[in-house]
Amino acid sequence: MTAPARAHTSAELIRAEEPVLAHTYHPLPVVIARAEGAWVEDVEGRRYLDMLAGYSALNFGHRHPALIEAAHRQLDRLTLTSRAFHNDRLAGFAEGLAALTGLDMVLPMNTGAEAVESAVKVARKWAYEVKGVPDGRATVVVAENNFHGRTTTIVGFSTDPVARGGFGPFTPGFRVVPYNDLAALERAVDDTTAAVLIEPVQGEAGVIVPDDGYLRGVRELTRRAGCLFVADEIQSGLGRTGRTLAVEHEGVLPDLVLLGKALGGGIVPVSAVVGRRDVLGVLRPGEHGSTFGGNPLAAAVGAAVVDLLETGEFQRRATELGVVLREGLEALVGKGVVGFRARGLWAGVDVDPALGTGRTIGERLLHEGVLVKDTHGATIRLAPPLTVTADELGDALQALGKVLGREG
Ligand SMILES: *Cc1c(COP(=O)(O)O)cnc(C)c1O
Repeated sequence: MTAPARAHTSAELIRAEEPVLAHTYHPLPVVIARAEGAWVEDVEGRRYLDMLAGYSALNFGHRHPALIEAAHRQLDRLTLTSRAFHNDRLAGFAEGLAALTGLDMVLPMNTGAEAVESAVKVARKWAYEVKGVPDGRATVVVAENNFHGRTTTIVGFSTDPVARGGFGPFTPGFRVVPYNDLAALERAVDDTTAAVLIEPVQGEAGVIVPDDGYLRGVRELTRRAGCLFVADEIQSGLGRTGRTLAVEHEGVLPDLVLLGKALGGGIVPVSAVVGRRDVLGVLRPGEHGSTFGGNPLAAAVGAAVVDLLETGEFQRRATELGVVLREGLEALVGKGVVGFRARGLWAGVDVDPALGTGRTIGERLLHEGVLVKDTHGATIRLAPPLTVTADELGDALQALGKVLGREG
């Protein structure tokens, strides 16, 4: 009989990754082994409050019972068919998602970057077939400091030198304008413009909330100019800001909405382009696709996510807890916090650089049992599961106050 396998420690597992795992991330030194709700547990059994929630992929918390049940039920019946055949889960998922967003049609994909790529293809095709842009001339206008994913086309229109450096040559056909600047957008849009692609709140840039009126302005401008408004709601959507979509804060509906992250319920990657029939309808069989897009397991989980959002409970929680978050952060301004931006249960917090980088603050919070992630420099992002309690949120803010009150 062989000896029982020895349990690995966190330190051993971190060391074991180094030679065999591409170094695309610099994770905080915690090795998570299980999780439930807003809490995760490391291999030594220490518990941490998750204030990142998988960059909003875990809006409903870890292993939400309704989502886990939907996944289990589907695992026992059917997991993958490919789109060569129909499956019995896809119609319900697409119907539910279209109704939830107020749009007509769904193009199911897997990751967020794929949804963005798909929207660029749809917008270009629409520009040639419907708008009448001369072949090969279509442009897409995007914003500075955008984050839309990691594929070669997408990093080509990133303005982050780390994201794009060394990965060219890049796909032509994109124009970059400052975010939250309608005059600059107006100047960039012309007869070749297929679409304006923006995040309604810029997540990776540090939870940048545009001025009131910006999203309405983008809607009016794109309508007037005869181009599409594409909203990347992959991080801002599905309850995070207190609404199903962040664009609802200004009462506008884009032509295409990109969803991902929380759409997979923290279980499987599920993304989608949701849009008007006259736009998504330009794609015909064979022109676009994905082996896994719309698979029965993804559709079952996605439909269960839609069911959760239909109740409005999570949007309400994000709004109510957002007040707790905002008040807690206001109390820290001048006490280590230089400033912050928040919308719903989502905040970008600028820490006094004299107290440390976002990274070192994250390391200190880890020791206090709170998981956060820095974005740029001395900015940390707070985005707990929408299932977090007000008390847990208060504890996390208290821990933040404590590590900021201490000298680095
Ligand atoms: C995370 C994210 C993406 C990319 O999603 P992946 O699933 O990582 O490819 C695109 N846009 C926004 C706004 C995001 O936050």
